[in-house]
Amino acid sequence: MYQLCRHIKTNGQRCQSPALLGSAYCYFHSRVHTLTKAKSSAWDDIKLPLLEDSASIQVAISQIMSAFLSSRLDARHTGLLLYALQIASQNIDRASSCDDSEIVHSMTVNGEGDELAPEKEICEPEEEDEKLTTAEPA
Ligand SMILES: [Zn+2]
Repeated sequence: MYQLCRHIKTNGQRCQSPALLGSAYCYFHSRVHTLTKAKSSAWDDIKLPLLEDSASIQVAISQIMSAFLSSRLDARHTGLLLYALQIASQNIDRASSCDDSEIVHSMTVNGEGDELAPEKEICEPEEEDEKLTTAEPA
């Protein structure tokens, strides 16, 4: 058995990767959460979501346009960010973002302000195979 990653995507789905031992997150999301905490720049007030699905790209576009309209971003940087979003939208696997069976229905917020999906344990595939072979009638 292993714990499932507790990261919640912008579209409300939970990450389906195994969490690292002793961590709430998988390898990828552990790195992402560490990197986002370390940054400090003049644009820290513009909080862009992790670009991992079409919903997060829509949110990012809205935030960039809002920052541009309120003069927190100049036209050059706005253009660069929108170009980056265009690249991100081409890299997203659209088929995987259509499945709504893994939508998170509750969450907790830890001391660092991270929103976490409920804990969920997954059985290893070998264990499931053993259960299937013993449960099948001859
Ligand atoms: Zn994850």
